[in-house]
Amino acid sequence: MQFAPSARQLLATYHIPFESWTIPDAERSRIADAPIGLAAFYTPGSRLGPTEIQMLQSIQFLIALDMSYLKAEFLTAPEQVGIIIHELGHVLNPAIYDPCSCMNAALDEELYADYYTIHCGYGSEFASAMAKMRQANVHGFASSSIQQRLDELASPSSIRLNLPPEQRPR
Ligand SMILES: [Zn+2]
Repeated sequence: MQFAPSARQLLATYHIPFESWTIPDAERSRIADAPIGLAAFYTPGSRLGPTEIQMLQSIQFLIALDMSYLKAEFLTAPEQVGIIIHELGHVLNPAIYDPCSCMNAALDEELYADYYTIHCGYGSEFASAMAKMRQANVHGFASSSIQQRLDELASPSSIRLNLPPEQRPR
């Protein structure tokens, strides 16, 4: 993972540097090595500078953190980390589509990213962050699928993972 200056500053300000995340060692290595960039932006839009543009050339995914919602007055430090880990889950634990599933593909994508937060030890923190977003009427958090995801995070039917075989929990 590569950190844009905006992301580095954000993690330092909120006292959540990558080193402080309490995640399994295997995931720490995977995240560190992944072609993912992290940058912060401000609603409704932000300018990216030369450093960020340069970073974009060596990554495949950019995780953009909206500072309007990732605020320390609003979220606890573990909740902030949970949100970042959910986004990492979209890349590192991609959904395996189950043709028999009644779930839709978009929901499956979210569920797999949610399962990744559980796998990394931040499931309940991510769930409480999502509940706060809904409480605050953040756009997109009023949908019924949010409740479905919160229910699943509270008591997962199974923690579906799509990790490299050597990193699956035994
Ligand atoms: Zn998501």
